[in-house]
Amino acid sequence: AAACAAIAVLFVAIGIWYSWRPESEANDEFVAAIRNGEFIPYYQPVMDIETKRVRGCEVLMRWRRPNGMIVSPGQFMAYAEANGHIFDMTRHMMRVASDEVGALYGEHPDFKLSINLFAGHFLDREIVADIKNTFENSEISYQQIVVEVTERYPLEDMELARKIMAELQALGVRIALDDVGTGHGGMAYLQKLGVDIIKIDKMFIDSISSDDNSTTIVDSMVELADNLGMGIIAEGVEEEEQIDRLMELGVTAAQGYYFARPMPAKEFIEFAERVEDE
Ligand code: C2E
Ligand code: CA
Ligand code: CA
Ligand code: CA
Repeated sequence: AAACAAIAVLFVAIGIWYSWRPESEANDEFVAAIRNGEFIPYYQPVMDIETKRVRGCEVLMRWRRPNGMIVSPGQFMAYAEANGHIFDMTRHMMRVASDEVGALYGEHPDFKLSINLFAGHFLDREIVADIKNTFENSEISYQQIVVEVTERYPLEDMELARKIMAELQALGVRIALDDVGTGHGGMAYLQKLGVDIIKIDKMFIDSISSDDNSTTIVDSMVELADNLGMGIIAEGVEEEEQIDRLMELGVTAAQGYYFARPMPAKEFIEFAERVEDE
């Protein structure tokens, strides 16, 4: 019986080892990729649709594999957030962004740099220290930084989130509410968080030239932003007609494939310099 039990225990142990091993190997690989600096910033221009000038960019993370393959956040972000790797990755990405586009931002003090944070960043003051450490000696000033928080996922501790945002705002950093109209927060977030900018989700922009309801919704977002003294950015703009509609509605800032896709630093710098020289 003892031998049977020992064998059973052995089998269970092997089973556990096998089921556990692949995941841990995947995680080791992920950690190695972080250490190798494979998670890098791409930059998507944010444009002024009236003047056709660059207002800045949104920093979007990419995984550049050693074989040159570029992986989008949809493939790794949920994993990185669930495992807490996102904290290191964001720190690294901000550091690289500061190095790569610092000179450009030094030359264009009106350019803004938007960084995406996830809900977990607002459960820990560490992010304030991270932003200070990255940008206090950078050519990018705090006034040029925008932190984007999505309303797709709930903020678990609203009180702490509000405090962290207020600390960032005291430095001069602005807070943008991302994906507005798609998620949890809605009006409550706008009221409680002291948001500076709202970003209209692509979902509304997609149908803005064909669907009256979308136009009405965007129209009321613009009015809301105006009344609350907030800025507004349209995202996912792909067609000329959408630009026309946005202009009619009084939205002046937009990003989307119509202008440019997210791109590596070198290309973004060339893009910005080309546009600003025109
Ligand atoms: P998001 O913050 O809403 O970013 C906008 C997404 O829309 C980006 O996808 C961008 O490439 C895409 N996009 C921009 N213009 C257009 C357009 O005209 N047409 C279409 N079809 N798409 C457009 P991306 O880069 O794949 O990022 C997806 C999401 O991953 C982001 O959505 C954001 O939630 C998350 N993410 C990206 N980088 C980071 C990061 O550094 N940290 C965190 N926490 N999340 C990030
Ligand atoms: Ca965003
Ligand atoms: Ca500085
Ligand atoms: Ca968005």
